[in-house]
Amino acid sequence: MINETNTPKPALRVELGERSYDIHVKPGVIAEAGGIIAALIKGRRCLVVSDRNIGPKYGTLLASSMQKAGFDGSAVEIPPGEGAKTIKFAEFLYDRCIEAKLDRDSVLLALGGGVIGDLTGFAAATFYRGIAVVQVPTTLLAMVDASIGGKTGIDHPKSKNAIGAFHQPKAVLIDPLTLISLPERELKAGLAEVIKYGVIDDAELFAYLEENMEKFLKKDPAALAHAIEKSAAIKARIVSQDERESAGGPRALLNFGHTFAHALESSTNYQGYLHGEAVAIGMVLAAELSVELGLLTRADRDRIKALIEKAGLPTKMQSGDPDTETLHAASFRDKKVAAGKLRFVVTERTDDMAKKVWNVGRSSQAV
Ligand code: NAD
Repeated sequence: MINETNTPKPALRVELGERSYDIHVKPGVIAEAGGIIAALIKGRRCLVVSDRNIGPKYGTLLASSMQKAGFDGSAVEIPPGEGAKTIKFAEFLYDRCIEAKLDRDSVLLALGGGVIGDLTGFAAATFYRGIAVVQVPTTLLAMVDASIGGKTGIDHPKSKNAIGAFHQPKAVLIDPLTLISLPERELKAGLAEVIKYGVIDDAELFAYLEENMEKFLKKDPAALAHAIEKSAAIKARIVSQDERESAGGPRALLNFGHTFAHALESSTNYQGYLHGEAVAIGMVLAAELSVELGLLTRADRDRIKALIEKAGLPTKMQSGDPDTETLHAASFRDKKVAAGKLRFVVTERTDDMAKKVWNVGRSSQAV
């Protein structure tokens, strides 16, 4: 007889033909990484990339799991923060790949937040014209967003994420237990993206967040794992439908709140706000725009704003922030500007909120 409690839960899957992969959301999965990766990779050489905040906490666990599964290689730590997402650090990783004798069947492991994921993914996309990468995200933002979907890249001094490639990982291993050490401000910034999924696609997730926000802020493992799974499943589905963010495709919906957020981040030189904080303000403005266009009721706009506030995220700009003209000019420098037109993702409510079915995502649209 099958004992249901011991039956492993099926992983989430990004369906992309021969580039398909699983997303494992499981407390403690880092300790099982070696076995999972050994089944996916021909070679037995690897390089674990993390930063100086994360490496000392989780690097040994990951490296020893890889060793137990028969992998040989090394681990490297780079300085934390966006400043490492540069060509200089990509080159640094190529050097370490050569020293560790990686070949075309080897694998890079990105253990960290979105910075590590993007940089390591980019190095994997380009080293020997492309080797395998496995994403092991350790920030909430990277778990629900950056690690899934294959966007990799580095910054140019004049343009963020300007240089990059689509390179899907072989697997995404999400261990919610790593969030225990994540600074509170980073956790809240990640919650902005979780709220976004609730708005664009999942009324039940939105309601769950409304009811359980205190638990998230206390890092309740079950609540976090639930929200991560729901969010990762939405991202996986949208990426499966529209891998390369085609014009008019569903991947653009993931940019709800992001047109304004990018303008705010770039015009404050990426210093003032974390990405999620800028997205939080951007979502309030996108909801406002949706009301102006007659798509969203004021009551629903207020509900979105209230949830963002409950998460401890900003809902409006602060004094000293750039003025409207500066933001407007910055918006037009965004690489998502299409044919000289700004694109805002707006949302509308179609169902009876009393039933807590709020399928705004199905009718969300880019204008
Ligand atoms: P981050 O990678 O800079 O990490 C934030 C900070 O938290 C760092 O100081 C890091 O050392 C620390 N940290 C990470 N995990 C920790 C843990 N478990 N415990 C303690 N400290 C920890 O920031 P982020 O928000 O994860 O990622 C931002 C980056 O992601 C940006 O460069 C952005 O462009 C990129 N991004 C990429 C995609 C994509 O689709 N590829 C999507 C969204 C964002």
